[in-house]
Amino acid sequence: MTTRVKPGWIVLLLIVIGILAWFVLVPKRFREPALEVGCTGTPTPNFALPRATPQTLAGTRIMLNPGHGFTLTEENNWGFQRPKPNGYSVFVLEDDSNIRMARTVKRILQAAGAVVLTTRELEATKSGASGEPVWREASKHHLSRIGVNKGIWNSRGYSLRGDCRLAQDIRARPLYANLEQTDLLLSLHSNAGNPLARGTQVFYGERSFLRVAPRTLGAKNACLAKNLAIAVPKQIRLERPDLRWGDASTNQSNQYGENGFALMPSVILEVGFHTNFIDGKALQDETFRVAVAKGIRVALELFLQNPTC
Ligand SMILES: [Zn+2]
Repeated sequence: MTTRVKPGWIVLLLIVIGILAWFVLVPKRFREPALEVGCTGTPTPNFALPRATPQTLAGTRIMLNPGHGFTLTEENNWGFQRPKPNGYSVFVLEDDSNIRMARTVKRILQAAGAVVLTTRELEATKSGASGEPVWREASKHHLSRIGVNKGIWNSRGYSLRGDCRLAQDIRARPLYANLEQTDLLLSLHSNAGNPLARGTQVFYGERSFLRVAPRTLGAKNACLAKNLAIAVPKQIRLERPDLRWGDASTNQSNQYGENGFALMPSVILEVGFHTNFIDGKALQDETFRVAVAKGIRVALELFLQNPTC
């Protein structure tokens, strides 16, 4: 008796072999998003590596990156990147709220002697290309307006979500930090989740998308994330015990372009959940923002003294 193998099974087997071959035979670096494929745009300039990480905050160059902002999309519509965060109990427009957090963090870090640069305009209220005040606009538009190299804010390259302009805006932030050779890159965000989710999360990448990045970068990113995850909640609990702020978590993820294209230690700090009533109210309170900024200062000081923990 002969057994006939159905063609469907052969196709399935070939697919399985193909998937296995992809992971076994194709080196990891070829599976990573390439900077130069996907969306049309301007080639990025070559970047010099940042100087050796300094040991104290005095003179340290820090790129602060308030997430999101008013952006022109592929469909030529202007809009906020996180337009509908409410739906729950409190309204926080993350695009704007990140700027308010960045203003406070900048002030506290500058007072400690750091040189603070930002990927978005923090103060100026004149109208930008969108008609909105320039401080509300996303990084891509800010960097275009101040005359930064087009390869930074209009970069050729990859898009995770299919919107090349949004991808360019995300990439603009680490690329600008690379161009300015800052010592650190700190992205400021707030989180979204179910209405009960609360607290701080820190995201870091274990390696850079850019092959010229130093091999030690992943360990430094992990250490920076760990320091922030300890110091920020500690300072919040000290200054706002009423909030009953919990411990923070660190999360390794290479998904985020905001970290992935940086040549210097970088993390994304999700300060709290804007979808939670208590966290959302806290994000609108300057006492809370000062506590977060002081926690960041402590974390950065510890990191600079011992950057691999
Ligand atoms: Zn965000």
